[in-house]
Formats: sequence, structure tokens, C-alpha cells
Amino acid sequence: VTAAGDSTLREILNDSMTSGSGSGLPLLIQRTLAKQIWLAEVIGKGRYGEVWCGIWQGETVAVKIFFSRDEASWARETEIYSTVLLRHENILGFYGSDMTSRASCTQLWLVTHYHPRGSLYDYLNNQYLDHCSLLHVALSTINGLLHLHTEIYGTQGKPAIAHRDIKSKNILVKLNGACVIADFGLAVMHTQTTGEINIGNNPRVGTKRYMSPEVLDESINTSVFESFRKVDIYAFGLVLWEACRRCESNGIIDEYTPPFHDVVPHDPSFDDMKKVVCIDQYRPTIPNRWTSDPVLAGMSKIIRECWHQNASVRLTALRVKKSLVKIAQDEMKVKFDFDW
Ligand code: ADP
Ligand code: MG
Ligand code: MG
Repeated sequence: VTAAGDSTLREILNDSMTSGSGSGLPLLIQRTLAKQIWLAEVIGKGRYGEVWCGIWQGETVAVKIFFSRDEASWARETEIYSTVLLRHENILGFYGSDMTSRASCTQLWLVTHYHPRGSLYDYLNNQYLDHCSLLHVALSTINGLLHLHTEIYGTQGKPAIAHRDIKSKNILVKLNGACVIADFGLAVMHTQTTGEINIGNNPRVGTKRYMSPEVLDESINTSVFESFRKVDIYAFGLVLWEACRRCESNGIIDEYTPPFHDVVPHDPSFDDMKKVVCIDQYRPTIPNRWTSDPVLAGMSKIIRECWHQNASVRLTALRVKKSLVKIAQDEMKVKFDFDW
């Protein structure tokens, strides 16, 4: 097991200050896309389908194949990725979607960039992080979330989008250690001018372990779009906690654990989660060692402000980003003072 840092802190900060949309390849939607792809091996298997690694025009791609009973998720992901200006270095890159027939069975394909490091969940299980790689994970993920949450006005604009299923398994890690947000099957969109919230028609509501108190006790006001942003921020707080545990300080690292592993069973029920999160108002423990490490201490403050019981006082994605940039800048000063 080795530390995961690949980029320098300066590069990471530079990236996160200048990142924007427009990166990636042009959008390609072809009816025949599926016919041009050679599927190589399964890289992910879930309740809702399979993810394959394949070859398309000499390029390694990821192909997510949905069961036809989950057509709603496929349609939603296709719609979200087809949104103009969704292209962003911290959002999974999309090639196209296809509906195809295999062995007289309808198959729904979603073709995206392939990230051989897999999900952030895999990454955190396999590697520990230094300050630099932790900041890279945190800053790149919040950059992706900030881009999603922000409505861009204009003829080529984008609606505000809330993800509604943020978790370490839905975030992928690029080779340079930066993250991209994936799995848009539950996303909701909002445009200020019409005030309309396009909630889609997917009956699934996210991953129970990561559900916020207001989703669990059903007090969430779904007529206000901001409510969905707050749900994402709550889950981001849990993801940041998962990542911080894997960051070394004074020679100590915590083993990987999913949030609430200590208080709910393996596949928690809605009621298990409701008892812990709403009634007991329990949150994952912040280890003592974090308080004596400037980066981890800064992170714990952000984490607490993200997973707050009261959704209205949770940080916005922009606030989180600014706080993370501040931590990175302070860390850089420490590093340079030391090098000097
Ligand atoms: P689901 O909607 O079934 O949860 P996801 O889109 O979250 O499907 O993909 C399931 C898993 O497959 C992810 O957690 C990740 O481990 C892997 N995976 C998905 N897309 C990619 C990709 N583009 N590159 C590498 N691994 C991927
Ligand atoms: Mg997923
Ligand atoms: Mg999904």
C-alpha cells in the first residue's frame, strides 16, 4: 500500500481555480454506437445493471448496461448528460447512449470515459492518502458538485442540477487522483426563469446510508430546489469523512469504513437509518487525531457544517470550495516555509 499523491498541491489549486466547462470530447450520439463497441470485461455489477470496459474506435470506454426494468434511470442519465454545458473535468465524460437488442432482449447502454482506478470507494479501500491527495479528492469533487448545482444563464446555458445519490461509489477517480461525479440516474433539474423543478419519474430515491435527516423523516420541501442541493451537501459531508479517515497524520491512518458502519447493519433499512440519523441525531465519529492536524482539523469543521441536522445552515458548494481552497493555501505555505 502506498500513498496516492500524484500531483503537486500547486497544480491541484491551479486546476480548481481555473476549472470550467468545455473540456472533453464533442458530444456524439449515434444509433449504431453499441454495434461499434467491443465489450472486454465487467468492471462493476450492481442491482441495476452492469458496467463494462470496452473498446470504441481504439479508445477504452466504459459501457453501463441497464436492465430494461430500470429504463427510467437510463433515460434520466442520458437526459442529464445531454444537457448543454454539462461537460466539466469533474463530471464523468459522456460519449453517447444507445438502445439496442441482444438475444431478443432490449438493452440500454450508456457510454462514458473509462477510469481504470474505479470509484472513490475502491480508491479509499486500496490506498491511503497524504494531505495533497486528500485535498485533490475534496477539491475536485466539490468542483464537480458546484458545477452541477449552478444554473448558467444564456442561450447555451445549463439548468441547476442536484444529484440525489452522492456517495463514494458514485464518484470515480482519474489517473491523476482527481475525482469525477458519475451516476446521474436520480438527478433533478431546475431553471430559475420558469421556476419548474424537473424531478423525472424515477421511483428510486437514493442510497439509504447516505440519506439526509429531512429525506428520512420525509420533512423535505420538494417544491424548493435548494432542498435538493442541501441533500447533496449532507452526503458530500459523509464522503469527505470517509476520505479523511484514510489520510495519514503522525503516522496514523484509520481503516476504511462506510459511514455509520458502527451503528447500522450491512444493508440498512429506511427505519434503521431514520433511528440513527433523525432520532438519535448521531453522526460518524471524528477521530481525536484529526484535531492536531491542521488539514484534518479544517476538514472536520467543513464536514460538521455539511452534515448538520438543520439543512438551512449547511454550507453551499461554493462555501465548501472556498474553505477547501483556504486549507490548501495554508498547507502550501507550511510546505514552502519548510522547503525554504
Ligand atoms: P449504478 O447506477 O448501477 O450504481 P454506476 O454508474 O454507479 O451504476 O456504476 C457502478 C460501478 O461501476 C461504480 O461504482 C464503479 O465502481 C464502476 N464504474 C462505473 N462507471 C465507471 C467508469 N466510467 N469507469 C470505471 N468504473 C466505473
Ligand atoms: Mg451507482
Ligand atoms: Mg444509479
